[in-house]
Amino acid sequence: MKAIRVHEFGSPEVMKLEEVPDLNPGSGEVVVRVEAIGINPVDTYIRAGAYAKKPDLPYTPGSDAAGMVIGVGEGVTHVRTGDRVYVAGNLSGAYAEQVLCREFQAHPLPERASFSQGAGVGIPCGTAYYALNFRAHALPGEFVLIHGASGGVGTAAVQLARAAGMRVIGTAGTEKGRKLVLAQGAHHALDHHDPAYLEAIPEITCGHGIDVVLEMLANVNLAKDLKLLAPGGRVVVIGSRGSVEIEPRDAMGKSAAILGMVLFNAAENDYRAMHAALGAGLENGTLNPVVGKELALADAAKAHEEIMASGAYGKIVLQP
Ligand code: NAP
Repeated sequence: MKAIRVHEFGSPEVMKLEEVPDLNPGSGEVVVRVEAIGINPVDTYIRAGAYAKKPDLPYTPGSDAAGMVIGVGEGVTHVRTGDRVYVAGNLSGAYAEQVLCREFQAHPLPERASFSQGAGVGIPCGTAYYALNFRAHALPGEFVLIHGASGGVGTAAVQLARAAGMRVIGTAGTEKGRKLVLAQGAHHALDHHDPAYLEAIPEITCGHGIDVVLEMLANVNLAKDLKLLAPGGRVVVIGSRGSVEIEPRDAMGKSAAILGMVLFNAAENDYRAMHAALGAGLENGTLNPVVGKELALADAAKAHEEIMASGAYGKIVLQP
């Protein structure tokens, strides 16, 4: 089969399409024929050698995929050959024609979701769900600001928050992005490049303030987020690309919490609960991943450049 291989950390061009042996499932493992692969920003940090946890070289990138099960190992009970699945985390790397994962990493993909949508579930929807429910404990009726709502995590967060009965405000840097955010269910869409965009928050929240912020770029926004909070407000730091100075009194005076998260820290039981909920959302249509662009597997380098550019529009997906 063909797979992207990385022999040295560096620029996107270090990703090479190569011929590698087919995969065989060991005990408790599943092999999936990949129909679509989800590109995530973390794939680019790992490829560049800038991520805290580095894989041994050479390696195949990618956490997220969707496809058809073509082999199951001894002891696998919930997944069968021929099942449509999405894969959230794996053992062999998703940028390939086949992927090997543990049984709990393969989840049913309902017929109503395409393989490309399935490839957009693992990290983005998992992160959005984990941030809202496991970190912020967001409740129906609360005001949720999704700061960076036009990308993979943000569009999922808008859908999940709206379906759960929250009051949703999303931001995007382009007109197209803001239309997308509204179409996913946000009650309001703001432009994070407009210097005055946060002045609308007191009116939108009738003076209450924001209960929960899901923050995609904390180094730019954290100080501002703290000033927007309602009493007891929570900011979940999902993404950050640098350092930031904050006024600690803004948190103190509101009894606010700044909550970090990395999805990879989630326990196996949390993953099970999360994917049961995401599966239900895919089934009933309240979770409907947005696929903005589909590229060929050989275009992995282009996909890595595009995901780091501004003007996000849902997910970028590769197709083998
Ligand atoms: P993505 O699809 O590339 O989307 C990036 C988002 O950030 C877009 O909505 C973009 O909006 C927005 N953004 C750009 N400038 C912004 C600003 N000044 N203020 C607020 N938002 C801004 O990436 P993603 O997959 O959604 O991931 C988002 C971030 O979370 C990345 O940094 C990623 O590494 C991180 N992440 C962390 C975890 C975790 O476990 N902690 C998991 C997944 C992702 P425009 O392009 O419209 O300007």
